[in-house]
Amino acid sequence: MSKRLPKMLYADSKGNIFDHPELCMAGMNGTVAVLPDEVELIPLPEDSKLFTMPSMPPISWDARKKTFTTVNEVRDGRRTQRVQAVAAFMAPGYLRTLLPACVYSGKKTHLPLWSYTAVGWDEERDCFVVAATKVDNNRNWNPGNYDDRTLDPLVRRMLREMPDNRLLEQLSRCAVDYHCFAAKNLFYRRWEAPLPTSPVCNSACLGCISLQPSECCPSNHDRIAFVPTPEELCEIAVPHLEQAEQAIVSYGQGCEGDPILQADTIAEATRRMKKATSCGTVNFNSNGSLPDRIQLLCDVGMDSFRFSMNSVREELYNRYYRPKGYVFADVLRSVDIAKQNGRFTMINYLVSPGVSDAPAEVDALLRFVADSGIDMIQLRNLSIDPDYYNREMGVAGQGIGMYQLLQRLKQEFPRLQFGYYNRTKENFFPEGFETGWPVKE
Ligand code: SF4
Ligand code: SF4
Repeated sequence: MSKRLPKMLYADSKGNIFDHPELCMAGMNGTVAVLPDEVELIPLPEDSKLFTMPSMPPISWDARKKTFTTVNEVRDGRRTQRVQAVAAFMAPGYLRTLLPACVYSGKKTHLPLWSYTAVGWDEERDCFVVAATKVDNNRNWNPGNYDDRTLDPLVRRMLREMPDNRLLEQLSRCAVDYHCFAAKNLFYRRWEAPLPTSPVCNSACLGCISLQPSECCPSNHDRIAFVPTPEELCEIAVPHLEQAEQAIVSYGQGCEGDPILQADTIAEATRRMKKATSCGTVNFNSNGSLPDRIQLLCDVGMDSFRFSMNSVREELYNRYYRPKGYVFADVLRSVDIAKQNGRFTMINYLVSPGVSDAPAEVDALLRFVADSGIDMIQLRNLSIDPDYYNREMGVAGQGIGMYQLLQRLKQEFPRLQFGYYNRTKENFFPEGFETGWPVKE
C-alpha cells in the first residue's frame, strides 16, 4: 500500500516547495491524521494554487515505521532546516475530502479565508495530487474563459449605454477590480450574472467573505453600499436574460449581505423581469432566514433557490451563522416553501472534513434530505482556517470520510444531484444525473 502513496510536501522558510524523498503524504479528517484512500487522490486540478502553512510543521506517514510523524526539520545535504506544511487551494468544482495534515497549534494568527486541502506529490503519475473528488463538470467557470483584455472594452461600452445605473457601476468594479467571474459574465453577456442588492445581513458568519471584524482575518471584498432600485435591476437583468447564452441572473452571489433583507425590491424587480421575458433563469441565493419572504419570491416567479448552511444541526448552524432575529427552523421552513412551490431547491452546503461527515451530521443530513426532498446539494469547501473552524464547532475526532458521505447520499437518494454551480432551468434535471457522480475529468 505504501508504495502507491504520494510523497509528503514541505516548504522552506522562503516558501520553496519540495517533495520528501521518503515520507508519505497524510491528510486530516477533523483533528485526526489519516491516510488518503486511493479513490480520493486525484491530480491537482488546473488553476489551483499551493500555499505554505506558516509555522505549522507537516505530519507525514512513515511507511517504514508504520506511524504518523511530525516533521519539524529536514536535512538538506549538511544543513538542517525547519520546514512548514503545504496546502492546496483548488479550482472550483472539486470537493475536498481531507484537510492538510499539520500541527496547527504552532499557528500564530488565523489563516486567511481560503479552503485548505491536503496535497502531495505522486511519483508514479509525476504530478501533484489532492485529496478531493470532482462534483461538477460545468467548464464555463474555467479561468481561461475570463481574459481581461477582451473585457475592458465591453465594460466601457455597457457603462456608456447605462450611464445612470449605480448597480452597473458597482458591477464594473466587481469585474475589473475584484476579478469576479460572475460580474465579468454580465459584460460578456453570457452564463450566470450577479445582481447584488443587499448592504446588510441578519447573520454574522464566522467565515463571511464580505464582512469581517477588523481584529480577525480580512474579508476578500467590500459589500455593496446601497440597495438598487427595481428599475436598475431590470435594466441590467432583462437584456441578459433575453440575449445571454445559458442565461441566469442570481441574487445573493457572495460578497454582499443577504438579499432576503431586500425581498420587496427583489420581488418587484423579478415580477417585472418575468413580465418582460420568459427567457433565462432567475435564481435566489440566501440564508433563507425569513420564510414569508420566500413565499413572496415564489409568488413572483423565482425559478430556483439556494439556501446556505454549514450544518443541518441547529447547534453547529448557530455557532457558525450566529443568526440575529431568526432561528434554524425558519431556514428549514424556507426550504420547504421553495420545494412545495415546485421550485428547483438547492442547498449550498459549506463543507469541511470532520464536521460534515461526523456521524451525527451524516444522520441529520440524511433525515433532512428525506424530509425536504431538495433537488441538489452544492458542495462548497468552506473557506476558513480549518483549525479555528474545528475548534469553534467543537470537533474532537474524525468523521466517516467525505467520499463515504457522498456514497451514502447517492445510495439513499439516487435522484439527489451533487454540484458546485447554479443551473439554467433547462438543465435542472439533466439526462443521466442519477449517476452523475463521480464526475469524469
Ligand atoms: S458583490 Fe461580490 S459576488 Fe457579487 S458581483 Fe460583486 S464581487 Fe461578484
Ligand atoms: S449569510 Fe452570507 S452575507 Fe450573511 S454573514 Fe453569512 S456569509 Fe455573510
